[in-house]
Amino acid sequence: MPATPSNLRLILRGITRRCAVCGQRGLTDRFLRLREQCPQCGYVFERKAGHFVGAVGMNTIFTFALIAIALVAGILLMWPDVTFIPLAAVTVGIATAVPVLFHPIAKTLWVGIDLIIHPLEPGEAFVEPGEAFVETEEGAAQQG
Ligand SMILES: [Zn+2]
Repeated sequence: MPATPSNLRLILRGITRRCAVCGQRGLTDRFLRLREQCPQCGYVFERKAGHFVGAVGMNTIFTFALIAIALVAGILLMWPDVTFIPLAAVTVGIATAVPVLFHPIAKTLWVGIDLIIHPLEPGEAFVEPGEAFVETEEGAAQQG
């Protein structure tokens, strides 16, 4: 019997916008909208109301970290003639673009992190806990 996906695999699947349970790709209808459940294994991503608050939190932390890095790097690069306008332009650009671009990754990553904290329970997907799907080279998943 194949092993349950490791914590590292759950994280990697989340970062690459794949289903944490089976590795299926194509989980977004459009760029920003995560499907309600995995088309391959049937896992419902939002386990309970408010489930994705963690994804919003991760997105916020990631965005603020990038802003802080950009500010420090900008100040160091311009030192001693630090000017406000370029710093403001870069940080406003980050604050505007990153939350949108990172949103789908934050959601699938949060699904993986949540599965580390609260493992898959019987009936949550077409695969039982302790089983895993084997990923094919095309990225589709087949039960192994
Ligand atoms: Zn799946």
